[in-house]
Amino acid sequence: MSALTNVVYLLAAALFIFGLKLLSHPRTARRGNLLAMIGMLLAITMTLLDKQILDFTFIIAGLVIGAAIGAYAAKTVQMTAMPQMVALFNGFGGAASALVAYAEYLQLTSDPSLDVTITMVLSVLIGTVTWWGSLVAFMKLQGIMRGAPIVFPLHQFWNILMLIAVVVLGVLFTMNVSQQSYLLAIVGVATILGFMLVIPIGGADMPVVISLLNSYSGLAAAMTGFVLSNNVLIISGALVGASGLILTNIMCKAMNRSLANVLFGAVGTDGGGGPVGDKKSVTEYSIEDAAMVLESAQSVIIVPGYGLAVAQAQHVLQELASLLQQNGATVRYAIHPVAGRMPGHMNVLLAEANVPYDMLYEMDQINEDFKNTDLALVIGANDVINPAARTQKDSPLFGMPILNVDQAKSIMIIKRSLSPGFAGVDNELFYDPKTMMVFGDAKKVLTELLQELKG
Ligand code: NDP
Repeated sequence: MSALTNVVYLLAAALFIFGLKLLSHPRTARRGNLLAMIGMLLAITMTLLDKQILDFTFIIAGLVIGAAIGAYAAKTVQMTAMPQMVALFNGFGGAASALVAYAEYLQLTSDPSLDVTITMVLSVLIGTVTWWGSLVAFMKLQGIMRGAPIVFPLHQFWNILMLIAVVVLGVLFTMNVSQQSYLLAIVGVATILGFMLVIPIGGADMPVVISLLNSYSGLAAAMTGFVLSNNVLIISGALVGASGLILTNIMCKAMNRSLANVLFGAVGTDGGGGPVGDKKSVTEYSIEDAAMVLESAQSVIIVPGYGLAVAQAQHVLQELASLLQQNGATVRYAIHPVAGRMPGHMNVLLAEANVPYDMLYEMDQINEDFKNTDLALVIGANDVINPAARTQKDSPLFGMPILNVDQAKSIMIIKRSLSPGFAGVDNELFYDPKTMMVFGDAKKVLTELLQELKG
C-alpha cells in the first residue's frame, strides 16, 4: 500500500471522527453527515485506485444500482419507518463483511496467519448474526412478523449451546483452515443465532436492538479490515462499533433498563394495541374551547411525540407556537430522549420546521419547570408522559424517566383516541381532571386551532 494511500486513509478517518463529533448536536448534524460522506468517498476512491483494478465493469454496475436504490429509499422512506430502514442497512453491512471475508477465504493459496484466520471467523460469525438478526428486526418493525416477543422453551439454554458450538467450530477451523465445512457450519449456527437473539425482543426495546446490531455491523467490518489488511476499514468499523455501543447505552439509560434486561428480558408488546375504552371519564374539549385555553396560557411547554411525526404536523405546530409567543406567552418544547421511534427523532422533526434550537429543552433541563407552567400541550406523545413509569411495578414502562407533564397546572393532549402508545400501556393521565383531551389527527387539530386563534 503506497504512502499516499495511507495519507488519504488517515484524512478519511479524521473526517469520520469530526463527522461523528458534529453529529452529536442537531445544529451541526448535517455538516457532520457531509464530512463523514466526504471521508467515505475518499476512502472508497483511494481503495479502488490503490487496488489497480483491471476491469471496473462490475464495480460501476454495482455502484449505479446500489446508489439508485439508496437514493430512492432515502427519498421515499417515511420518517417513522426509519428504524426498519436502519435495520436493513445494518444487515447489509454485516452481510457484506461476512461475504468479503468468505471470498477472501476462497481465494487463499496458502494457510493464512493465525490472526487473519481468527478475524476471518469473527467476521463471518458477527456478519451473519448481524444480517439475520437485522432481517428479523426489520420484519418485526415492518409488521411482516409478529412484533411481540417470541420465546421458545429453554431459549437461553439453546443460545448458550450455540455460542459454545460456534467457539468449538472456530477453534477446529483455525486448526484446519483447509476444511471449508467448519466455516460453513459457523455460517449455519450464526444464522440460527441471529434469529434466536432477536425474536425474543419486542415493543419499545426494538430500537435498542437495532442500535446494538449497528454496533455489530461495525465490528464485522473491522474484522474484515484485518482480513484484508485495510486500515481505513478497521478504523471505520471500529468507529461504527463504538458509536453503536454508546448509542445503545444512551437508549438503555433513557429507558432505565440494563442491556441484559433488554436482550434477555423478553418484554414489550406488539405496540399500538386496541383502544383502551371509555371505562373512566375523560374531559373532551372542542377546538373552540381548546383555543380559548391556549389564548389564556402565559406559559406553555409543548411535548411532541411519535403521533406528531405520523401526522407530519411539525410545521403547523411551529406556526401555532410562534402565534402564542406573539401573544406574549412563553413557549418551550420538552424533548424526551426516546420520544418518537429513534434517538433524536423529535430534534430532526422540529429542525425540519425551523423551530429555533433555543426553544428545545432536554428532559433534565425542563422537568422541574412543569409545575410552574400553565399548560403542558402534548401532541401525539404517550409513553414518555405516562405516570405508570413511576408507579406501576408490573408495567413495561416502569423505571423509565418521564416528562413531568402531570405536574403542570393544566394539560392538553392532542391524539386520535384513547389508544395506548408503543408500549401498549393505558395512560391514567387521560382521565386526570386537569387534562383536556382534544381528539383528532394532530395536523388537522393544530390547523383548526391555528385558524380559530387567528380568526
Ligand atoms: P407513543 O408511541 O407512546 O405514543 C404515540 C401516540 O401518538 C399514540 O398513542 C397515538 O395515539 C398517537 N398518534 C398516532 N398517530 C397520530 C396522529 N396522526 N395524530 C395524533 N396522534 C397520533 O409515542 P412517544 O413518542 O410518547 O413514545 C415513544 C415510544 O417509543 C416509547 O415507548 C419509547 O420507549 C419507544 N422507543 C423510542 C425510542 C427512541 O429512540 N425514540 C427508542 C426505543 C423505544 P392515537 O392512536 O390515539 O392517535
